[in-house]
Amino acid sequence: MAPLTRNTDQIVDLLASNPGGLTRKDLRERSGLSMPTVLAVIEELKRDGRIHETTPPRTSGRPGRRGSQLMLSEALGHVVGIDQGHHHVVAALATSGGHILRRTPVHETDIVGRGPQSLTDIAELVGPLLKGHASPTDVRAIAIGLPAPVRDASVALPQFLQSWAGTNVEEGVRAALPNGWPRDLPIAVENDANLGACGERRYGVARDVDDFVYVKVSSGIGLGVYLNGELYRGAHGAAGEFGHVTTSADAENRIEGRLTKLPQECRACGKLNCLENLASCRAILAQLRDANPGTYRATTDIGNVIDSALAGDALSRLAIHNAGIRIGYAISDLLRVLDPQLVVVGGLLARAEGLLSDPIHLALDQAAVATYGIQVEFVPKDLVYDSEVNGAIARACELARSAA
Ligand SMILES: [Zn+2]
Repeated sequence: MAPLTRNTDQIVDLLASNPGGLTRKDLRERSGLSMPTVLAVIEELKRDGRIHETTPPRTSGRPGRRGSQLMLSEALGHVVGIDQGHHHVVAALATSGGHILRRTPVHETDIVGRGPQSLTDIAELVGPLLKGHASPTDVRAIAIGLPAPVRDASVALPQFLQSWAGTNVEEGVRAALPNGWPRDLPIAVENDANLGACGERRYGVARDVDDFVYVKVSSGIGLGVYLNGELYRGAHGAAGEFGHVTTSADAENRIEGRLTKLPQECRACGKLNCLENLASCRAILAQLRDANPGTYRATTDIGNVIDSALAGDALSRLAIHNAGIRIGYAISDLLRVLDPQLVVVGGLLARAEGLLSDPIHLALDQAAVATYGIQVEFVPKDLVYDSEVNGAIARACELARSAA
């Protein structure tokens, strides 16, 4: 079967939402696509046997007035996407064509401390998610993210997420599904930043961009890379461990104030200057506690730091600024290597908006990246939890199609 395009998904979604059928004219009007595009998609779907056509009886005096009705040959079902960060989990339900029907609220958790045991939460997430929309037997695929490099449904390099080492996450998810769910459901496991890139490409600012990078700045720092329209995972599933590149001397020379680097060795690499240990949300929180234990001792939520910074707290602003400088310089090196069209910056720190984007732009300007016009976009602050779960939906749609 030919690969389905986004236009095809849109037409399939419209047909899935209108089981009584739609005419070609209806499809053109409701999709906003041109008639030639609609006709080409219909031909493709008919060739693949996915839709059929019924011609209504002619009414007197107005032959063929309503036009023939196009319908899906079978119910395409639904898919579930699950995003797990270090401290949260969120799930979404969509049609197999990728129309997102519902997202769960963001649940706080600790997947590092709890390890694979946290997969048991899935049972509580999926019930309410499907309610009123689909039954478990309508679900065609699940995709789930993990904040670690992934290969063969497991953590590719154990030191990056020790508590999950050796766990086959696909089997873990299958075991966690409640009674009544199909036992042979296709399940994909993917690195969370890779999912973020998939989400931005399908639903976000990277739509229709073939060469781009998605930088996720949350508890850790991750990267998803699209090259020639394909997600690049690397030879070992470990591409995009951007949090473990070394910060440059140029960046360190630009760091301001008394928030200096943390002396701890990186748990994964053993290095002292991994980007993640100096510029992630976790690092910002540690730097603030270190600089002023009296004020920041109980500060464990980056949301509070961002709120304080936006309200004018100088030390919080400085911590975010320094993170932006370090991240910006690291991105400049990345751009020299890959020359993408677009950089998308997301993750929880993107909620700081200008407090993060200004120093990143500053670093990129200083590194003269802007001179050849690579576009830089930031995920809007209200959507920072969406990139990865949307990507899980996009990945699950792919899986459902390949399994069909
Ligand atoms: Zn490291």
